[in-house]
Amino acid sequence: MTQRSPSQEAGPERERAESGGRVFIDSHVHLDGPDYDGDRAEVLARARAAGVENMVQIGYNRLTIERGMALFADQDWIHFSTGLHPHDSADWSAELEAWIEERSAWPRVVAIGEVGLDWFRDYAPAETQRRVFRQMIRLARRRGLPLIVHSRAAEEDTLRVLEEEGAGDVGGVMHCYAYGVETAQRLRELGFLVSFPCSVTYPKRNQTEVIAELQVEQMLLETDSPFLPPQRLRGRRNEPACVAEAAAVIARVKGLSVEDVARITRRNARVLFRLDLAEERVLVYPIRRSLYLNLTNRCTADCGFCTRLTHPVVKGHNLALRREQEPTAAELIAAIEARGGAGAWEEFVFCGYGEPMMRLDELKAVAGWLKERGARVRVNTNGHADLWHKRPTASELRGLVDVVSISLNADNAAQYAAIVRPAWGERSFQGLLDFARDAARVVPEVVFTVVDDGSIDIEGCRRIAAEYGVPLRVRLLDETG
Ligand code: SF4
Ligand SMILES: [Zn+2]
Ligand SMILES: [Zn+2]
Repeated sequence: MTQRSPSQEAGPERERAESGGRVFIDSHVHLDGPDYDGDRAEVLARARAAGVENMVQIGYNRLTIERGMALFADQDWIHFSTGLHPHDSADWSAELEAWIEERSAWPRVVAIGEVGLDWFRDYAPAETQRRVFRQMIRLARRRGLPLIVHSRAAEEDTLRVLEEEGAGDVGGVMHCYAYGVETAQRLRELGFLVSFPCSVTYPKRNQTEVIAELQVEQMLLETDSPFLPPQRLRGRRNEPACVAEAAAVIARVKGLSVEDVARITRRNARVLFRLDLAEERVLVYPIRRSLYLNLTNRCTADCGFCTRLTHPVVKGHNLALRREQEPTAAELIAAIEARGGAGAWEEFVFCGYGEPMMRLDELKAVAGWLKERGARVRVNTNGHADLWHKRPTASELRGLVDVVSISLNADNAAQYAAIVRPAWGERSFQGLLDFARDAARVVPEVVFTVVDDGSIDIEGCRRIAAEYGVPLRVRLLDETG
């Protein structure tokens, strides 16, 4: 099933079991300091037992870079960053920068950081901090590495420097995120994530209002160990095993499970730090209480807004499948069984970044298997199946599918073709409507969906939906699930 070898799988699988299926990446730790000299091995063991799969040990000056790399040289799961902290920016010299750059080429260095601006502590003159921050961004661009940014009481200045220096080309994360929603949005436009530490558990300054507004897709988790321990350990040393406590707060605020938050933030970190060296093939993926089934990454459309080719990631699941990786019905059923089987989920959804009805035989075989076991089955489709298979197809779903959700996208053929860029041009719209009409006769529930982004005539869509006897569901842009 999986592309990984059993030996690669054994480690993470074991930890997954011990941590209740949650796998975390702690994106920011300082474990080189004397706080851990007495029990560093135990701290690492506790992190593993808590489900921490990887962490980034931050090297922010000559001492911490050297110490971290020496201490964790043989720990493959610990990655490094190299940079010069704003507090240490007065130490900058061309020689030191060259040394940091040389260290940044070492194996397992995944970022430049932490670097930035700190007007709160004010340990170095503002002008020096600004100049060194610019130098570090240029270094990151040369190395093609993302940035880990430290910014305190320096919101506007940090954004301005990032923008002026083209930091968006390498992307990065602002760690210990303490600013508001607007800044996070500007960071997102730059391709930057924001990272939340265990201080989200505090009764005050816990950032929960900001977390409520942001998408988990923009977030990383961190502990910033030994700093910022969770509320129950206030005044004591923090450690990476506590990362789950930050995830629990985010999960509660977002109405997701801790496993969801772990998975999404892990995916975010793996993409940002490019940890995905081994390819994985995701055939089934959970969102809330539904199990989504990934049959293909191909599509008969080429929607302008679709990131199918460039970034086929949904809620932290990478759904990219090359054609030769597409599952057979038996493989998909085995993947469902590995996730608890037909009885374990409220609904099974044929979806993914691709058009599931292109693989109608496999879809029917798996749907039949699910219906025999009493499961509820939904198909999300672009409605092009008749055109693709050159025959009416909806009747073949009789008894196999409970819900068919069809993207209507527009109220007329010309606009539809402009948005969806389908293989058959404007006549695709009528093909979709014919499929919908037929489906409504044999499938208990058929719905049209349309995204209300302001450019669509929603009333026109309602008229068409009524004409074809299919209810219309208007979605907002960026709505999940
Ligand atoms: S129909 Fe769906 S998968 Fe296909 S291009 Fe459009 S948005 Fe992407
Ligand atoms: Zn910091
Ligand atoms: Zn730090």
